Amino acid sequence: MKKKLSECSDSFFFQFFGKEGEHNVKALQQNRQFSEEDLQLTKESLEKLLLWYQSAKRDLPWRKTKDPYSIWISEIMLQQTRVEAVIEYYKRFLETLPTVSSLANASEELVLKLWEGLGYYSRARNLRKAAQQIMTEHQGEFPRNFDAIRKLSGIGEYTAGSISSIAFDLPVPAVDGNVLRVMSRVLNDFSDIAEVKTKKNITELLRTVYPKTQCGDVTQSLMELGAVVCVPNGQPKCGECPLASLCRAKHKGTVDSLPVKSEKTKRKIQKKTVLLLQFEETFALRKRVEKGLLHGMWEIPNLDQRLSRKEISEMFPNAIAVKKIGVHRHIFTHIEWEMECYHIIVKEKNSDYIWETAQEIRQNYAVPAAFRPFCIWEK
Ligand code: SF4
Repeated sequence: MKKKLSECSDSFFFQFFGKEGEHNVKALQQNRQFSEEDLQLTKESLEKLLLWYQSAKRDLPWRKTKDPYSIWISEIMLQQTRVEAVIEYYKRFLETLPTVSSLANASEELVLKLWEGLGYYSRARNLRKAAQQIMTEHQGEFPRNFDAIRKLSGIGEYTAGSISSIAFDLPVPAVDGNVLRVMSRVLNDFSDIAEVKTKKNITELLRTVYPKTQCGDVTQSLMELGAVVCVPNGQPKCGECPLASLCRAKHKGTVDSLPVKSEKTKRKIQKKTVLLLQFEETFALRKRVEKGLLHGMWEIPNLDQRLSRKEISEMFPNAIAVKKIGVHRHIFTHIEWEMECYHIIVKEKNSDYIWETAQEIRQNYAVPAAFRPFCIWEK
C-alpha cells in the first residue's frame, strides 16, 4: 500500500530536498495527491532525463541561446505548432525584429505579416503588447523572475515557467500537454489531465523535486521526451525511452490507457462560402471586425452560409465568370469552418473592399491560414 505524503516524516523530505524544500513539500502534503514513492520516482526520472537529454536533444536554433527574448518568441510560436514549421518563422522574426525594443516599436501589420500562416494571431498581438510593457514597466530589460514574466501580456503559467527555467535557470517547471502525458504514464496516474487540478498537482510535484541547477535542461528534457519518445499520437517508443525502467504504466501495461483526458465540448461547424473577387489584376480583401475570431485580420470576402453556384451568379449578375475553385475545412479551437470557394471575375470594383494586386497582397497583407488554399496570388 502506498504511503500518502501526509503520512511521511519530515526527516524524509529534509533528507531529499533540504530545509529550502520544506515549503514546497508542506504545500504538496496539503493537497494529499502524491506519495513518498511518487516524489522519489519523479526525482529519479528527472535525473535520468537530464542525462539522456545531453546526448539526445535535437539541434534547434532556440536551444543555442539564453536570450530571454529569443526563447520567449520560440515558446509562443511553438504553442500548437510543429517544431519543423516554426524554425523558418523564428529565424525570419528575429532577423526582422531582433530585440524587445524593435518589437515594441514595430507596426501591428508588420508583426502580423511575420506571423502569417502560424495562426492564433492574438499571440502575435500579445507579443507586441508585452514588448511595449517591458519597455515601459521594466525599462526595456526582460524581467528575471516568474511572477513578473507571468504578468506580461499573453504569457501563461507554462510560458512563464519555460522562460524562467530556460533563460534564467530558475527551478520552475513548465507543464503542458506533453509533460502531463509523460508524467501520467510514469506515475500511472489516472487523473483527468483536462482538469486544472491535475495540472496544478503535477506542477507542484515537479516544482518540489526540481534541481537547483540545469533547470532549463530539465524543462527541455521533459518537453523533448514528450515530443519525440512518449509521443501524443501513435504508440510511445518505450523501447527507446530513458524512463522505461522506471515507468509504472509500462510495467503495469496501462500505457495505452494513459493519459486520461475528458472530451471537450464538440466544435461548432460553420459552413462558409468564400468569394474570391477579381477585377482585372486586383483581388478584393476586407478587414474582419475588431472583436472575435481572427479580429482585425485581412480576409477574402465570405458569407456564413453555403450558396449554390446559381445563387452566386444571381448575386453578381454582371460577373464575367463564376467558377468553383475548391473546398477546405479549417479547424480552430472551438469552431470548424467548412469552406467552399468561388472565383468570381467582376466588371467593376465594389467599394466595400480594398482591391490590391497579387504582389501587393503578398508583400503587405497577412491573410489567415484558413483562406490560404484559395489565395491564388500565392501560386
Ligand atoms: S516508458 Fe513508454 S510510456 Fe513510459 S514514459 Fe517512456 S515512452 Fe512513455
